[in-house]
Amino acid sequence: MSNLAKNYNRKKISFKYGKGSYLYSNNGKKYLDFVMGIAVNSLGHAHPSLIKTINNQSKKLWHVSNAFQIPEGENLAKKLCKKTFADYVMFQNSGAEATEAAIKVARRYFFSIGKPNKNRILCIKNSFHGRTLAAIYASGSKKMTEGFGPKVKGFDHFIFGDHKALEKKITKDTAAIMVETIMGEGGIKVIPDFCLRELRKLCDKKKILLILDEVQCGIGRSGDFFAFEKSKVKPDIVPIAKGIGGGFPIGAVLMNKKVAAGMTPGTHGSTFGGNPLAMSVGNKVMDIVSNKKFLNNVKKLSKYFLLNLNKIKEKYPSIIKQIRGRGFLIGIQLHQDQTNFIKKLMENKLLTIRAAENVVRILPPLNVKKSEIDEALKIINKVCSQFKL
Ligand SMILES: *Cc1c(COP(=O)(O)O)cnc(C)c1O
Repeated sequence: MSNLAKNYNRKKISFKYGKGSYLYSNNGKKYLDFVMGIAVNSLGHAHPSLIKTINNQSKKLWHVSNAFQIPEGENLAKKLCKKTFADYVMFQNSGAEATEAAIKVARRYFFSIGKPNKNRILCIKNSFHGRTLAAIYASGSKKMTEGFGPKVKGFDHFIFGDHKALEKKITKDTAAIMVETIMGEGGIKVIPDFCLRELRKLCDKKKILLILDEVQCGIGRSGDFFAFEKSKVKPDIVPIAKGIGGGFPIGAVLMNKKVAAGMTPGTHGSTFGGNPLAMSVGNKVMDIVSNKKFLNNVKKLSKYFLLNLNKIKEKYPSIIKQIRGRGFLIGIQLHQDQTNFIKKLMENKLLTIRAAENVVRILPPLNVKKSEIDEALKIINKVCSQFKL
């Protein structure tokens, strides 16, 4: 009997070790891992530079309180600001903490300019911003909130793509619009660049803030460091997590100077957030992933992957409805429930994970090799050829 609570529906498999794009199970099998801890292990498993970095830092200093200066955090914040829209960074430990902190920053900004009633956050219905109390009510998903009342107030929702409803839902009490640039759990739905630009314009017109949740789609996953960069839009606040730690839990909120002014000493904190061990790993991941050549390779190989997935779709139109996504945040949307398809892929030694709307989610490491993509394509093709509807 397991003493772990049953809040996960776990597959009956465990792993002994990982190397690059592969996982080796305790029963002696080798899997191509295109889950990567759900976009967490951005550089694959057991990356030599990350091993070296964490080993070196572990001998020096693991943790000190944020009551003191932490140069490793100063350093990572500087790099994040240099590469992005941001002027300031606040470190956390996870995605949900980062999205919650993003909400706090938005509310605190309006409080600090004498508009404390401007505190409502407008989100997409059935989006995903994490599993804390506020975050589940921000997501507006019945499944996630059921049994966890009372309802956390302060969130409004609109349906993905319903621009008219979105504008109508903005009231004098709205502080911010918070959306994922690419919806991950929600089924790999990309917000088109022109919509992002319209969103920014709308926020400017209504004098509210734009929060883009890049916890899943950020840190190089889309082929740009942030998925919104291609649109040239500048958000006000961006929560990040998953990929920035390469497997070490790190979260952060990036913000511009205007909104950061509200976060005066004592307004927010985190015991673990931004400790030297986490920050040294984050710095290393950042150095590798923010490199232009590295990102160009993500763009190139992901285009190749998407092109060939679309060819498989053309071949099996009765199984595959749509190929979704950008960069290495990819969804194969099936016409029917994806559970069996994912199981078949796994039997053929390819690990993938579900997302909403019958989507098989594919998240290779950002440094995946072309030969590994070819291996995955071969498996997906084979499973399609044998799949019975
Ligand atoms: C995963 C995710 C979160 C929550 O991150 P946790 O680390 O699980 O708390 C928030 N937003 C998005 C878009 C995510 O994909």
